[in-house]
Amino acid sequence: MNIILMGPPGAGKGTQAELIKAKYPIPHISTGDMFREAVSNGTQMGKEAQKYMDAGKLVPDQVTIGIVEERLAQSDCAKGFLLDGFPRTTVQAEALDQTLKKLNKKVEVALNIAAPDEILIERLSGRVSCKDCKKVYNLSYSPPAQAGVCDICGGEIIQRSDDRGETVAKRLEVYNEQTAPLLKYYDECQLLHNLDGNRDSREVFQEVVRILESL
Ligand code: AMP
Repeated sequence: MNIILMGPPGAGKGTQAELIKAKYPIPHISTGDMFREAVSNGTQMGKEAQKYMDAGKLVPDQVTIGIVEERLAQSDCAKGFLLDGFPRTTVQAEALDQTLKKLNKKVEVALNIAAPDEILIERLSGRVSCKDCKKVYNLSYSPPAQAGVCDICGGEIIQRSDDRGETVAKRLEVYNEQTAPLLKYYDECQLLHNLDGNRDSREVFQEVVRILESL
């Protein structure tokens, strides 16, 4: 199963990715997670990426395409993959098609999760996660039992620097300008499925499963 998970920040891509990978044994490839890891490891690429992430902008295509190409060529992607947060530009989508062609693969489905801007802003401003195990909480809907402490591992709860005020607004603007046009690209390839992300994540997942089982 070769899946692309699309949608604006806060739509619930991460939550659906966790559910999908628990049910289907395919690697979850999140470019956002890869960049955050590079930032926390202090690599050269991480330092470069951080400037864009903190500004709510996209990391340049060449850098992003390079890390995804490398990842998709790894052996665990042989039986499929779940791409989360990639592609985000038309250049990335075209590069992905070419990379997959070389690997004798293709995108089989593009799942697009959508929600109104006011819901996205509310979700992102309340989103926090564990610094250690990365478990995600929302301070309004699903806070940790003890403030600031992870229920699972006792790690420190932190907020992503790009989930703060102005950066959130910039990320939504960038999504609308650079990523939303990609929906047309996948629609024309008859791969696009639109899902309403403004409901319980279990309901969204039921629909995801129906789509994946029909492939
Ligand atoms: P995410 O966790 O998917 O919301 O991504 C966090 C940040 O990482 C984004 O705001 C971008 O700065 C960067 N990023 C993640 N994926 C991409 C991508 N496909 N292209 C460019 N930048 C990306």
